[in-house]
Amino acid sequence: MSEEKRTEIGDLGEFGLIDKISEEVRIYHPETVKGIGDDAAVFDMGDSLMVISTDMLLEGVHFDLSYMPLQHLGYKIVAVNVSDIAAMNATPKQITVNIGLSNRFSLEAVELLYEGVRAACEAFKVDLVGGDTTASQAGLVLSVTVTGTVPKDQITYRSEAKKGDILCVTGDLGAAYVGLQVLAREKQEFLGNPDMQPKLDQYSYVVGRQLRPVARMDIIHELADKQIKPTSMIDVSDGLASEVFHLCKQSGLGAAIYEDKLPIDKEAYETAAEFSLDPNMCALNGGEDYELLFTISQEDFEKIKNHADIHTIGYMQEKEKGKALVTRGGNVVELQAQGWKHF
Ligand code: ADP
Ligand code: MG
Repeated sequence: MSEEKRTEIGDLGEFGLIDKISEEVRIYHPETVKGIGDDAAVFDMGDSLMVISTDMLLEGVHFDLSYMPLQHLGYKIVAVNVSDIAAMNATPKQITVNIGLSNRFSLEAVELLYEGVRAACEAFKVDLVGGDTTASQAGLVLSVTVTGTVPKDQITYRSEAKKGDILCVTGDLGAAYVGLQVLAREKQEFLGNPDMQPKLDQYSYVVGRQLRPVARMDIIHELADKQIKPTSMIDVSDGLASEVFHLCKQSGLGAAIYEDKLPIDKEAYETAAEFSLDPNMCALNGGEDYELLFTISQEDFEKIKNHADIHTIGYMQEKEKGKALVTRGGNVVELQAQGWKHF
């Protein structure tokens, strides 16, 4: 073997790898308005814009079938894709579903999976229009591609936040990550003692956040009703801090967020403590909340300030001021983004 250069993917990280791929990509069509780098790609359809996004879930990486019911998995693969369409301020329209199945799966299992897919199609009003089916030697593989549409003047990118804009996040954060810890612990206890019944009642909210994420299309409709167009938007799939980093990087800005403004559900807070986890860390770096993080101009603040499910957590500032976390004690520390590390 020659001494070829070898760079570990783990050293690059997921985002470094995507940057590398996108450097070499050439765009051939003027209709391609936005390629790699946002929650969805954007195409010019003449009167309006079309958006398209794809996401994959792998057994053993993203889910464990010993605690993930197949109906929930079917729902989740659609919801996480629709979430990316919401992050573009667009309306989802069609999906295709690709599945890789090992011979462990029966027709009945596939039917359960598609029960969940159909339930999500109904909830988010999307048409299942195709897909691909193949055998898999690496467990269950699921991937969905979703399209959506949006009027040209309503599209939101990650890159258009302005200095002084207010950072908002919907719902609450960290619960899906805490729910995953509960499920993992129950699995270990079950393996140790198979007669044991899982005791999940007191964790129903956090477990539900992990098993049944909801794409926030309701918020997209409400923002439209209130005539608010976010200046930038992203969905929270990798953890709030990581998403704040994306908005900052692509908008060429810094940000300040306040720890005491992070929306954390009571059950998530208490359960995190039970696992000796810092609830703030769960909110900042736990993944899979599928809430929306967006910026609005200060003049729109009045319109959202009393909204029960939209929380203002900070503001955008000059790049030179960096990304700051104002702690509960009033200290200003650098915001750290751990994100999800699959590599
Ligand atoms: P999200 O978390 O919103 O799903 P990702 O972090 O997965 O977004 O992807 C960020 C951007 O990189 C998107 O524009 C996505 O289409 C693009 N991307 C991710 N993986 C690849 C790949 N293997 N080849 C080309 N583009 C990719
Ligand atoms: Mg996204």
